[in-house]
Amino acid sequence: MDEIPVAEAARRLGLTEWAVRKMITAGRLLNRARSGPALVAAADVDRIRSDRRTEALRRHRDLTAFARAVDGLLHPLMTSTPLGATGSGFYLLPTGRDALKVLPPDAFAVFGRDVLEAAAVRDQLRRDGACPTCFAHMASRVHQTHPPENGQAYRALLGEPCPVDVRRFAEQTAERRRTADRQRQADTARRAEAERDHARAEFSAAHAAAETAAQRVRSAARHLATLDPQIAREATAQARRRGAFKAASRFPDWCTCDADRQCPRHAAADRRAARR
Ligand SMILES: [Zn+2]
Ligand SMILES: [Zn+2]
Repeated sequence: MDEIPVAEAARRLGLTEWAVRKMITAGRLLNRARSGPALVAAADVDRIRSDRRTEALRRHRDLTAFARAVDGLLHPLMTSTPLGATGSGFYLLPTGRDALKVLPPDAFAVFGRDVLEAAAVRDQLRRDGACPTCFAHMASRVHQTHPPENGQAYRALLGEPCPVDVRRFAEQTAERRRTADRQRQADTARRAEAERDHARAEFSAAHAAAETAAQRVRSAARHLATLDPQIAREATAQARRRGAFKAASRFPDWCTCDADRQCPRHAAADRRAARR
């Protein structure tokens, strides 16, 4: 299993190292290092990241509005940020990278640090001819944070995606659809297999019950035959008829006696059949 140091876990979660250490102390994250600096399982970190995102998304049903609010914190309009004109001078609200510090934790939980960092420097990226969405995508792959998605909220933060992003989004959608199709097919196959297994079990249970019943009939008949000579004679005659039917083709001159008597010719044929 992949193990990562606390600093990287913090990066993936968009939290401070201190916050991650607190999680370890609280038992929410397991320290997997036998000795030395703490190590946590990458899988555990990803699970927590996904849980935190789901929780945060529940608090921000209107994701675009939340993204616009975050964008407002990253890029405060100069005209509307006056700078608290206090007697001793004025201060500017933090902008760009510095503004990351004033973002609410939910912003990191939802968008991930890499999208937010790209959003913070997006104007500079554009000036340098780089696409903020591509930049965020690549950084998120390197750091294993949430990648930019196709949607209004992400446009509010990163601007319009470039053709490369559009193509990537389309591929992701197609891939998700393929995965869903495969999942559906697997489910159908599993259900059919379960149904077959059930039918098979049902049949062998019924078959076993029928066998038992047939055995009981035979042994009851035997028992009855020992107590009633008339039944015994009938059973013998029946058995003989079954045999006679099979043997008839081999003995064209087979007689038709079928009562509880045997003609001599029949008895001789029986003896011949028994010798075979
Ligand atoms: Zn791009
Ligand atoms: Zn006969």
